[in-house]
Amino acid sequence: MTSEEKSWLLERRAHRCVENLAKHRFDAHFLESGAEVTQHVKPLLDAAATVGFGGSDTVRSLGLHTLAAEMGKTLFDHHRPDLSYDETLAMRKGQLGCDLFFTSANALSETGEIINVDGIGNRTSAMAFGPSRVVVVAGTNKIAPDLHGALRRIREVAAPMRAKSLGVETPCAVTGVCSDCNAPMRICNITTILHRKPMLTDVTVLVVGEELGY
Ligand code: SF4
Repeated sequence: MTSEEKSWLLERRAHRCVENLAKHRFDAHFLESGAEVTQHVKPLLDAAATVGFGGSDTVRSLGLHTLAAEMGKTLFDHHRPDLSYDETLAMRKGQLGCDLFFTSANALSETGEIINVDGIGNRTSAMAFGPSRVVVVAGTNKIAPDLHGALRRIREVAAPMRAKSLGVETPCAVTGVCSDCNAPMRICNITTILHRKPMLTDVTVLVVGEELGY
């Protein structure tokens, strides 16, 4: 398969995903590239005073933290290296009631579901209830054929790579294989599946035609 054919296949898959997300009452869009994300979220940032960020390499790589800070928003970002434990905790709690919450997805299903796992739960809680609006940004590499495939993708790809990147002491961070561990630092204690739009939360999903995050 050439890279052109691969891009075509991934884009077809992304469009099916977006169509099914929209049927599930998500505000879903396909964007050609990460560069379009800033343009798309700017009006949402304009309308927000407080902005929360779940742990996401995708969102960070697109510069959305910097953009929100430059716009004078109050940020709830627990990844700032200067924070004490208590300050980090306050940031995580702030995400639960912010105006606008950004996250990626560990997986999207082509059938229209959004799936995330979490060790602590701030991200998986905030994506369901609390913030007025949630924005999920995900590359086409996150799309699996169905819910079963999405959960498998998380176990086989997303979680081991995330554990490795965080440097946590879990079996998968060493072997690359999930053993459904009982490690104290297990990063997948909670799974949130948005099957349909939560009643009191508006959810925008931006599916980007690029490989983003893992
Ligand atoms: S259950 Fe444990 S081994 Fe499996 S992906 Fe999660 S942290 Fe890694």
